[in-house]
Amino acid sequence: MSTQEQSTATTSSDRRSPDVVVVGAGTAGCYAAATVAREGYDAVVLERKTEHEAGHIACGDALKGADAFPDAIPKSKLEPAFTNTGVDHGRFEIPQEDTVLEIPVPGELAVIDRWEYGRRIIGGAGDTGVEFHYDTVVKNVTQADDGRVTGVEAIRKGDPITYEADIVIDAAGSLSILQDNVDFSDSTFDTNVNYSHFCSAYREIVHVEEPVEWDDALVFKPTERAAGYLWYFPRTDTEINAGLGFQMTEEPMQLVEDLKRDLENRPEFAGAKVEDKLGAALPTRRPYDSAVHPGYMAVGDAAGHVNPTTGGGIAGAAYAGKYAADQAIEALETGDYSEATFWEYNERVMDHFGARYAALDVYNILSTAVDVDDLMGLLAAMPGDKLAEALYSGSTDIGLKLKLESLIKSRGHWGTIWNLYQTKRCADDLLAHYEQYPTSPEGLAGWQDRRDELMETVYETTGAEPKY
Ligand SMILES: Cc1cc2nc3c(=O)[nH]c(=O)nc-3n(C[C@H](O)[C@H](O)[C@H](O)COP(=O)(O)OP(=O)(O)OC[C@H]3O[C@@H](n4cnc5c(N)ncnc54)[C@H](O)[C@@H]3O)c2cc1C
Repeated sequence: MSTQEQSTATTSSDRRSPDVVVVGAGTAGCYAAATVAREGYDAVVLERKTEHEAGHIACGDALKGADAFPDAIPKSKLEPAFTNTGVDHGRFEIPQEDTVLEIPVPGELAVIDRWEYGRRIIGGAGDTGVEFHYDTVVKNVTQADDGRVTGVEAIRKGDPITYEADIVIDAAGSLSILQDNVDFSDSTFDTNVNYSHFCSAYREIVHVEEPVEWDDALVFKPTERAAGYLWYFPRTDTEINAGLGFQMTEEPMQLVEDLKRDLENRPEFAGAKVEDKLGAALPTRRPYDSAVHPGYMAVGDAAGHVNPTTGGGIAGAAYAGKYAADQAIEALETGDYSEATFWEYNERVMDHFGARYAALDVYNILSTAVDVDDLMGLLAAMPGDKLAEALYSGSTDIGLKLKLESLIKSRGHWGTIWNLYQTKRCADDLLAHYEQYPTSPEGLAGWQDRRDELMETVYETTGAEPKY
């Protein structure tokens, strides 16, 4: 048992009562718990993995924007896990067009040793007084007669254990089991969640003998056999995170086999050794319309806080953890654990990144309806700097910023360009609507009605099957 575990605020051996129970020792859970503990409240993180395995998470290891992460865990704690800070562009390989596009990536970007990062955020949260209870698999959620969540039931090494808490923060990642067990009928919590909103992804950490030439780039490539994509992210010039994923609406890929085939075809991986393998699902959808319920908030992957076009979710998880914890502190101070108290958490998520992710989701929807080869042909014909602007400005600005020269280069793709332009208008309308996100739970239903009308236009314009 670790020192952190020994200092538990216990009421009995099988029933415990911290102020806040956080389920999941990932990024969202650690930032949430650290934010609460820093204010002097008891926060316990329950993690199903062993103390050794905790923090070992399937990921591409690309960390964007760590310079502005919440300060509950200081950046200096994380930095030793940043193994490559020299990456400054994306390298898009488009074999159909025999083209490689190089697109600058603005802002701070690091490729990290993800397990080391995972251990370091746990250590950083531990420094603020957070307790970690490992080998603890949460199975169920307890609710009072009025529906408020009052705690969780778990199993630790075969024995049942119950936690009572004023607030439960669900940071249990994609497809969180907690949400299968909460009765959300009396709250705004978003239950419109379906397996098709997720991407199935797999990655290997591969060691090569000779340094790769592209150690300053994130390498992307569309997969050959199904609508998916491959990535090669250099942790160092000889340690590469190689992975691939596909949207669960598409025909399933043989992830392990398909990655192996691509690796075999790349000369720089001749004789390479695989050091680690992991796979997982990640949400590639809009953020939850509301992630709050009396006594309960969901954060990070458990609330769809991932950029649906890049799959980047570490930053969203860190911020969501902080914003939820700020409302948890307010609730602990006022004794009011209602949705109204937690609502500001929803608002801050939408304001910071949620609205933008919802607009980007429109392009994800488009990609399920257009011909991938045609899209790749268009990409190959576009100037890299325009694409970079398009990718990193608020909504995706592809349509308007196309200059004449790229239009001429991309003749043959004018149908796709028109489609993209119309789709961009839909995304802009949606973004504007998300910027009007309601200021209280009472406003949500009316706001959702108008949003759903805008989504109808998205489906009509793109020709895609409704996603939600
Ligand atoms: C293959 C892949 C590649 C990715 N690449 C990137 C990338 O390059 N950059 C990026 O920013 N993002 C990437 N992401 C997304 C990113 O990893 C997630 O968005 C991020 O880890 C979410 O953090 P989280 O804290 O919400 O959840 P997680 O990190 O998933 O943490 C959830 C924790 O909860 C625990 N848990 C789950 N259920 C229970 C239970 N019932 N009881 C107790 N504990 C439980 C889990 O063991 C886990 O430790 C990738 C994801 C995948 C799958």
